[in-house]
Amino acid sequence: MPVSLLIALLLAFGVDGPRGRVPAGDVATVLGFMLGGVALTAALAFGLGFWAAHRVSRAGHVSNPVRRRFTLGSRLITVLSLVVYAWIIHSLGWSRLVLSNWGLRGWILLDDLAIFFPFLAIQVLVWSGLFAGERALRVGAGDLAGGLGRHLVLRTRQSIGLVMPVIVLYLARHDLIDKVWPRWARYQVAEPLEVSVLGALVLLISPVFVRIAWPTHSLPPGPLRERLESAADRVGFKFTDILVWDTGNMMVNACVTGILPGFRYVLLTDALIETMTPYEAAAVFGHEVGHVVHRHLLYFGFFFVGSLGVLSLMATGVESTAPMFDWLGRALSAPSGLVSETGQGLALLILLGVYFWVVFGRLSRRFERQADVFGAKFVSCQTAVCPPHIEPDLAASESSQSAHSLKLCPVGVRRFADALAGVAIHNGLDPAGRSWRHGSIASRLDFLGWLERNPAAEQSFQTSVFRFRVGLGLVLLLAVVLSIMSSLWSGGF
Ligand SMILES: [Zn+2]
Ligand SMILES: [Zn+2]
Repeated sequence: MPVSLLIALLLAFGVDGPRGRVPAGDVATVLGFMLGGVALTAALAFGLGFWAAHRVSRAGHVSNPVRRRFTLGSRLITVLSLVVYAWIIHSLGWSRLVLSNWGLRGWILLDDLAIFFPFLAIQVLVWSGLFAGERALRVGAGDLAGGLGRHLVLRTRQSIGLVMPVIVLYLARHDLIDKVWPRWARYQVAEPLEVSVLGALVLLISPVFVRIAWPTHSLPPGPLRERLESAADRVGFKFTDILVWDTGNMMVNACVTGILPGFRYVLLTDALIETMTPYEAAAVFGHEVGHVVHRHLLYFGFFFVGSLGVLSLMATGVESTAPMFDWLGRALSAPSGLVSETGQGLALLILLGVYFWVVFGRLSRRFERQADVFGAKFVSCQTAVCPPHIEPDLAASESSQSAHSLKLCPVGVRRFADALAGVAIHNGLDPAGRSWRHGSIASRLDFLGWLERNPAAEQSFQTSVFRFRVGLGLVLLLAVVLSIMSSLWSGGF
């Protein structure tokens, strides 16, 4: 998810800037400073890109320090582009120039586009600048072999496809509902309800956005497709299509999208199909099926809705600290309200960040493990003794099975673990490298190795995930009920 794009949207449209015209004499200065800011950011990106490319070509190989510095540098440049953009629209007065001086206020979409234009320009320049480095280091998603033009098109598609849901959400909220039903916005429950309904919509139609975001084509008929289809059939997994995700052979990865059985894609990257044996590909496919069988996507949707309740409780809690911030403001003799508003905003942001980091991170890592276990079951033989291992799709003719009654076998676990190790190797990942959402590959392999030695322990693992889900679900439900009650209590409806 391109987080920086979301932040830029928030900066542009979430925060109201000052109104009024920019004095005619200042227009040239504003434009000059703006160009300067954009040029500075672009120069840094080009500098970093060429530096990395130069280092790699001189050394003849990719070294970890260069990779690390490049990653760090790219992140800093991303932050800088946001700072420059915030400065352009809020301090320099780009929005005022566009809306008042040039009279675009009230034009549907055109005004928004014009306000957003500087960020788009910075973004395209930064992508272009970093391209040389990314190509030399072979980092980042997308086809790097196809030249700069193709790279930019892919990056743009990705951003649009992934951010489109947010834009739809924003436009629906502000333009449609305000016109059709102006009184609606006055209800306290309006906002959380809208976010929930639109969030559910986004979840339902997410397959459309994935197809916009990434270049894909249907997996052609052949042995692999046959194997995957019959294995899916065996456990009653329904989907619209299996798609090959074209990454110019850069990335070994897979994902599943969509919560409706009739509208759901499984994506496997070109490099995955190229490098893995059909058995390993089936194991990875099984991991994605596992996300669906265990209803992970649906639960994530529920988690985000429930988190609105948590957020509202946090906001109430932070509001109660207002007297403390007011006192601090007086002690610092700052303008009234400034310290209080900034302080409360920051406190809420930090609380929310910690909550997501801890709770969502843990939930997501548990789900990945559960999907891993399912992937292993997917390629396990369902016979009493193993070895000798009988390929599940060869034994499939007997009868289909419920996805929840599949069993693990040692060879299946090993096969899934090999596939997972392959993902790490082909993507140039450090197996011990931490991943907030997935857990490190090494820890996932350890867990699988442990399961291989103690197949009976699977049941207690499943029980612990189930308890975590139910427990978290109850807490979230309670948070929603409490926040609705407290908003009724405070008099609003
Ligand atoms: Zn997964
Ligand atoms: Zn077996």
